[in-house]
Amino acid sequence: MKTIDLVVPCYNEEDVLHMFFEETNKVILTIPDYQFRYIFVDDGSRDNTLSILMELAEKHDNVKYISFSRNFGKEAGIYAGLKYSQGDYVIVMDADLQHPPALFPAMLQGINEGYDCCAAMRTSRKGESKIRSAFSRTFYRLSNRLTNVDLVQGAVDYRIMTRQMVNSVLDMSERQRFSKGIFAWVGYKTKWIPYENVERPLGTTKWSFLGLFKYAVSGITGFSVAPLRMVTFMGSLISIGAFIYIIITIAHTLVSGIDVPGYATTLCAVLFLGGILELSIGILGEYIANIYMEVKERPIFILKNTNIDLIAHNEFERDKISSL
Ligand code: UDP
Ligand code: MG
Repeated sequence: MKTIDLVVPCYNEEDVLHMFFEETNKVILTIPDYQFRYIFVDDGSRDNTLSILMELAEKHDNVKYISFSRNFGKEAGIYAGLKYSQGDYVIVMDADLQHPPALFPAMLQGINEGYDCCAAMRTSRKGESKIRSAFSRTFYRLSNRLTNVDLVQGAVDYRIMTRQMVNSVLDMSERQRFSKGIFAWVGYKTKWIPYENVERPLGTTKWSFLGLFKYAVSGITGFSVAPLRMVTFMGSLISIGAFIYIIITIAHTLVSGIDVPGYATTLCAVLFLGGILELSIGILGEYIANIYMEVKERPIFILKNTNIDLIAHNEFERDKISSL
């Protein structure tokens, strides 16, 4: 029997976990041809998420959990879940039931049709603010123009992947992880399954506006050096303009003498160039920051507690495990 691991990152999800487990189990019962296993990743939750997970694990053999030493972010949660998964297929999904488990059969059908991956795609942005939707649309447009990975509008981190694709995703060991980009970058044949956006039944979203903005910037800088080229291009354009203006000014001075008034022109030029310089330094800074974070090679997550047999998983040497 083929096995499927469900990787579920959870951060402060005590309100919704029981409901998630019940709802998902209902769907799993309708798919007897596969053996399902849960891998919950507690991303340093400050509520009772971990104790609920331990309780579930105690009652159900197919529930595994991984708990981090602090909050490392959803991306780290997905990475850890994939790393400890062993199933023939892996499904990545949110804990808040915004990723309806009812899509499992459609996803498996895609796999049976020969796709390497079946991913869910929201057809509406119901329940989301207009501003947030507008920013998100702009991000997709910008990102697809600037990067060489094609992000699908409305794609969410809810998908099933073959073991082969999971291994490719794990081979991308970068620290600043942008899953949407990584999933697109590794390639493979993906089938898109549209679904209506579902609102969170309980709990609240963990995203702040600033958080989303940073996420968008890291998405673009992680997959493209186009912004750097843009700086070069802008610089060239301004230099050409400046050169022409210098020639005009010199010629004008030679013909009609020195023109004293020039306050407005000077001020505009200084402010304009100042702005462009700051922007360019900022863009350079983003890339330098990325390099800085990558060269440190810090672990993507720190494991504190788990019921997965790490020795069997070949992940840790025996002497190291005693400290866990
Ligand atoms: N999540 C996480 N770590 C975080 C933030 C979120 O593991 O630092 C999990 C969260 O528990 C949920 C999923 O990521 O299962 C999506 O989070 P959320 O619902 O807040 O995001 P949204 O659906 O609003 O994009
Ligand atoms: Mg959500």
